[in-house]
Amino acid sequence: MSQSVYPIPLTLSPSRISGFRTCPMQFRFASIEKLPEPPQIHLVKGNFVHRVLELLLAHEPELRTVDAAREDFELAKAEYEPSARFVALGLSQEDREAFFKDSRELVNGYYRMENPRNTKVIGLEMRLDSDFGKFKLGGIIDRLEHDEHGDLVISDYKTGKVPNPKYGANKMDNMHLYASLCLRVRGELPKKLRLMYLKSSTPIEVDVTDESNAACDAAAIKTFDQIAESCQTGEFETHRSGLCNFCAFKQWCPEFGGDPTQAQIQAPVLYPALEKN
Ligand code: SF4
Repeated sequence: MSQSVYPIPLTLSPSRISGFRTCPMQFRFASIEKLPEPPQIHLVKGNFVHRVLELLLAHEPELRTVDAAREDFELAKAEYEPSARFVALGLSQEDREAFFKDSRELVNGYYRMENPRNTKVIGLEMRLDSDFGKFKLGGIIDRLEHDEHGDLVISDYKTGKVPNPKYGANKMDNMHLYASLCLRVRGELPKKLRLMYLKSSTPIEVDVTDESNAACDAAAIKTFDQIAESCQTGEFETHRSGLCNFCAFKQWCPEFGGDPTQAQIQAPVLYPALEKN
C-alpha cells in the first residue's frame, strides 16, 4: 500500500467522529492539520455555563441552593475572566456584561428544567476511554446519573438553540457513542440519553437499546474506515450546509473558492494558538 498522505488518527472522540460526518474537509483542517481557530464567543460561553453547573452539581444535593448557584457563578467568573480564551475574545465592558447576563439566563433556563437537589449524580465531567479495535475512542460526558427508577442516564447541556432536526441527529449520535463508552468502561448500558437545551429549557430524550448500541458501534467503525481512507488518499469531501457560516476555515474551503493548501501557512498567522475547546 502506498504511503498515507496524512497520518491516520488512532484516537478519536465522539465529537471528532461527528465532525467528520458533518464535513470531512473541516475535519481535515481541525483534526488532521490541527490548525488554530479564532476564539468563538458561543463556545466560550458554553464552557463557562458548563463550569457553573459542574460546580453546582458537585455539592451535596441539599446544598444545591440558588445562593450556592450564585456563588458558583462568581467562582467560575473569577476562573474565566483571566483565562487566555476569554481574554482572546477581546470583549468591551458592555460585551462582557452581555456575556455574563446571557450566561445567567442560561443557568436560569437550567433551573426551569429541573431541581438540582433531585438529581442523583454519579459523575460530572467524566472521562471515558475504550478500545474499539481499530482505534481508541475517548471523551468527556457532562453528567452521569440515576433517574427516579434507578436507571442510568447520560445528560448533556446544550447552550445553543434546539437544532433543526436535519442537524440535531448528529448530536444524539454523539450521545449514543458515549453510551457505548459507558457500557465498555462501567459494564452497564445507560437506558436513556438526554440533551438539555438551556436557552429554551427543553429536554430531548431518547432510549438506548442493545440494538441502537450495536448500530452506533458499527457506524463509528464505518466512519473510522472512511477517515482512514481520506487520510490515505488525501481526499476530504466538502459538505456545504448552513454550518459553513460558522466554519473557521471557510476562507480556505474550495466550496467558497479557497485553497486548502494555504490554510497551514495562513491560519497560524491569523489566529494565535489557543487552547482548543
Ligand atoms: S466552509 Fe463548509 S464545506 Fe467548507 S470546510 Fe467549512 S463546513 Fe466544510
